Amino acid sequence: MKETLEKLYNTRLNNNCPECYDVNGLELTIYQREKENALYSQASPNIETELHCNTCNTRIYPVNWDLDIERIVDYHTKRVKTKPSTIRLKKLAYFLIAADIILLILLIYYLTT
Ligand SMILES: [Zn+2]
Repeated sequence: MKETLEKLYNTRLNNNCPECYDVNGLELTIYQREKENALYSQASPNIETELHCNTCNTRIYPVNWDLDIERIVDYHTKRVKTKPSTIRLKKLAYFLIAADIILLILLIYYLTT
């Protein structure tokens, strides 16, 4: 099972950076984790946020967020369109299912004639 982080959304924030107090550095990225193997892929129902300051080049963790940052992150998090967390079959899975059905039809055909 391979796990990937899919980038859903990316935006600049005009908030003060808690580290360097610059107002032009904060960048918010929203990710959704996705698991996949050869047969299917499935997105996680949870999304992950990352706040990075490009001025002081620091990742700002949620413990350091002030109320304004929390509010704006919350706003963007609610607006972002996530992928449904249902299982999506890949071509190989459809092929195997189709092959199974053909085998079954052949088997029934041989057994009844
Ligand atoms: Zn900063």
